[in-house]
Amino acid sequence: MTNFNFELIRNDFPILKQKINGHCLAYFDNAASSQTPLKVIEAEKNFYTNNYATVHRGIHTLSAQATIHMENVRNQVAHFLNASSKDEIIFVKGTTEGINLIANSWGSNIINKNDNLIITEMEHHSNIVPWQLLANRTGAEIRVLPLTKEGKLCLKQLTNIMDKNTRLLAITHVSNVLGITNPIKNFISHIKSSGIITVIDGAQAVMHHRVDVQDIGCDFYVFSGHKIYGPTGIGILYGRKSLLNDMPPWEGGGAMINNVALPNSTTWNTIPWRFEAGTPNIAGIVGLGAALNYIEKLGLDLINQRETALMYYAYKKISLIPNIKLYSPFNNNGIISFNLGEHHPYDVGSFLDQYGIAIRTGHHCAIPLMKYYKVKAMCRASLAFYNTEQEIDRLVSSLIHINNLLND
Ligand code: PLP
Repeated sequence: MTNFNFELIRNDFPILKQKINGHCLAYFDNAASSQTPLKVIEAEKNFYTNNYATVHRGIHTLSAQATIHMENVRNQVAHFLNASSKDEIIFVKGTTEGINLIANSWGSNIINKNDNLIITEMEHHSNIVPWQLLANRTGAEIRVLPLTKEGKLCLKQLTNIMDKNTRLLAITHVSNVLGITNPIKNFISHIKSSGIITVIDGAQAVMHHRVDVQDIGCDFYVFSGHKIYGPTGIGILYGRKSLLNDMPPWEGGGAMINNVALPNSTTWNTIPWRFEAGTPNIAGIVGLGAALNYIEKLGLDLINQRETALMYYAYKKISLIPNIKLYSPFNNNGIISFNLGEHHPYDVGSFLDQYGIAIRTGHHCAIPLMKYYKVKAMCRASLAFYNTEQEIDRLVSSLIHINNLLND
């Protein structure tokens, strides 16, 4: 860990200097939204201050420059994911919108009542509900890849539930509750010859590991800007070019057309713009570009090394807390999900907040997974590279204190 100084890096995140309820903020809700470095805030501010204009419309200089900037970020994202072309990168609001786009465009075009779609028991609701809506519209069947006794997904069970009518596997790269990295490359290589389309929810993966969509071999990959140190309201859908080319638009409006003719013979733009109706979130795109620059400069490998070291430190200490029930195994994605005896996660989370410590409590938009563990809710502490050992010590001592208080 010689290359960068983590204390200095915290200066990049002014929000971390805040006091909450009279205590220094210890922010452990990074899996929900990571904090935004100054470089990203400044990039958006600079865009609004000096470069603001809409894209793809005007021939005037500002508009042309904004368009170039936006398309440069598209190139940057293609490079980040190792996509084969920038045309495979579509700007969306976030992971949720990306999956809804696939379900509405690819899904509504291809799926019929004889088909079945496979989702898994560990998905975030964003990777469940759009497929259920598609199934409701088309009459297709939803099949669920269940968790094993060990809380994992296994290839054998996947091959057991698929058949010649299986059209889709929608699976998360990293579980937002368990922190597990699923063996998606292995799954994909086994099912590829069956022609099953794969949608990978990368919302919890891209900020921790280098993702190479060509190496993984997936058809679609989605992620959100706000979990990778970027702004809210911007995300990425990667789609294989040959698939995108055959997909109809899902939203209509400006920019997605080639020609509009009345009464009804409008033609569509080429990809990626066919899927970007209306004025895009240009400032968000600029911010996402700055966020990717920021993490590339630090280095994802070094970020992950630091996060893994913090996880060793935290996991060892948290697992020794009396009464703790850990749901997530040790992982290098920064996620620790737990409950403190029978105490309600909301009580635990509220007490921690009084000490300036932010964690997430609730069902984590993964109600089926809560059902698997026979709980209504969990606490989740999620770490990022800017967290410190001292913050972890505070979390641990506060949990011990809360446990004593609530047991009295
Ligand atoms: N998928 C996973 C695994 C997530 O953790 C989240 C957000 O928590 C989402 C999807 C939804 O992301 P967004 O709300 O940014 O669309």
